Amino acid sequence: MAKVTIRDLELNGLRTLVRVDYNVPLDEKDGAYVITDDTRIRETLPTIKLLREKGARIILCAHMGRPKGKKNVKESLAPVAVRLAELSGTPVQFSEETVGPVAEAKAAALKDGEILLLENTRFHAEEEKNDPVFAAQLGKLADVYINDAFGAAHRAHASTEGVAKFVKEKGIGLLMERELKFLGDAVAHAQKPFVVILGGAKVSDKIKVIDSLLDKADTILIGGAMAYTFALALGKKVGKSLVEPDQVGTALAALDKAKAKGVKFLLPVDNYIVEEFDFAKKTVSPGRYTNPGDQIPDGWEGVDIGPETVKLWTAEIATAKTVLWNGPAGVFEVKECAKGTFAIAEAVAANREAVTIIGGGDSVKAVKRAGVADKVSFISTGGGASLEFLEGAVLPGVACIPDKA
Ligand code: AMP
Repeated sequence: MAKVTIRDLELNGLRTLVRVDYNVPLDEKDGAYVITDDTRIRETLPTIKLLREKGARIILCAHMGRPKGKKNVKESLAPVAVRLAELSGTPVQFSEETVGPVAEAKAAALKDGEILLLENTRFHAEEEKNDPVFAAQLGKLADVYINDAFGAAHRAHASTEGVAKFVKEKGIGLLMERELKFLGDAVAHAQKPFVVILGGAKVSDKIKVIDSLLDKADTILIGGAMAYTFALALGKKVGKSLVEPDQVGTALAALDKAKAKGVKFLLPVDNYIVEEFDFAKKTVSPGRYTNPGDQIPDGWEGVDIGPETVKLWTAEIATAKTVLWNGPAGVFEVKECAKGTFAIAEAVAANREAVTIIGGGDSVKAVKRAGVADKVSFISTGGGASLEFLEGAVLPGVACIPDKA
C-alpha cells in the first residue's frame, strides 16, 4: 500500500515536524566542528523545497551520533543548520533545545516557508526509549508529522515512531517515498529476469535477506566472505578464509530452497587468495588467482572473486531487467582485493536497460568509489534499515504513517 506523502497533504501555514537523517560525519578543526560529507543534508533538499512551496512552517529534527542522553558540543546539530542554510539558500534557525518552552516558542514564531532545526534528539535518553512523554513534547511543536529519515526508520524511537501518535496529520517525505518505491515496489514486483548480488562478511547477517529474495529472484550471485561459508557447506576446502561454521546448516537450507524454487544460485568459480592479510593496516601479502573450479589451499585466504567469476556474473547482470546489489564481493577497502567489487559496480552500471538498485551499506561506497553512482537507477540511503526492509520486516518509522485512502 502506498503511504500518504507530502504531495497529498495540505500544509499551508501548518507547523510541520520533519524527521530527517542528518547523522553526518564531523571533524574538529581549530575548535570548530566541520561537516566532512554533507550528502545526507543535500538529500533532504527536494523535500524541503516542496514543503516551502506548499507554505509549510518547517521544523526539522534528527539525531547525531550516540550521545546516550547527554548534551555535548561534538554531537550538536548546530553546524548542520549552517550548512543547510548554505545549500538551500534560505535562512535556517536553530533551537538549542529539542523540546520544551524554547523550542515551542521558536516553532510558534515560524512564518510560512521558514525553517527551524531542533537540537539532536538523542541528547534526551527518552528518544531511544520511545518515551511517550518526550514523544508528546515533540508532537506539541507541530500540526503535521513527516518522516523522511529512511535510514532511521527501522528504529522505534520517539522522533521516528512515537511522535506520530501525538500528531493528527502524518506523511512521508520525498526521500522516503523513493526508498519505498525502489527497495519496496521495484523489488516486490521486479521486472524479470531479476538478478540479485549479495556479498559482505557474514551469512548470519544476510540470511534473512537471502531467504526473502529467494522468493523473488531468478538468479542470486553470492560473493564476499559469505561465499566461503557456502563453499564449506558444499564440502569444499576454504583454507583460512573467513567462514561461519555454525551457519553451514543455514547455507544448505538456502541452497535447497534455491533448488526447489528454480533460482539460479551462483557461487564464485575462482578467487583471489593471499597468505597474509592485515585488515587494520590494509595490507596483504602478494596474492594469486585460483584456477576456475579449484579449491582454496590450506594457509590461503579468499579475499575477492576472480576474473572468470567476474566474466560469468557480468553476463548474468547484462541480461537482467532488475538488479539489486547489497554487499561487496571482496575486501574492497584494500586496493589489491577490490577489483571484483569494482567490476561488479561497472557491470551493474553498464546495464542501462534494467532498474538497478544499490541496496545500502558498503555497496554504496563501492559504487561511489568506482565512479558510477550516477549510472544506476537508485542508491539506498539506509544501511541497517535497507537490509531489514529487504528482509521483509515492517519498519516502525514507515508503519506509523497511514496508507493513502
Ligand atoms: P557487510 O557489512 O556484511 O556487507 O560486509 C562488508 C564487509 O565484508 C567489508 O568490510 C568487506 O571487507 C568484508 N568482506 C568482503 N569479502 C570478504 C572476504 N572475502 N573476507 C573477509 N572479509 C570480506
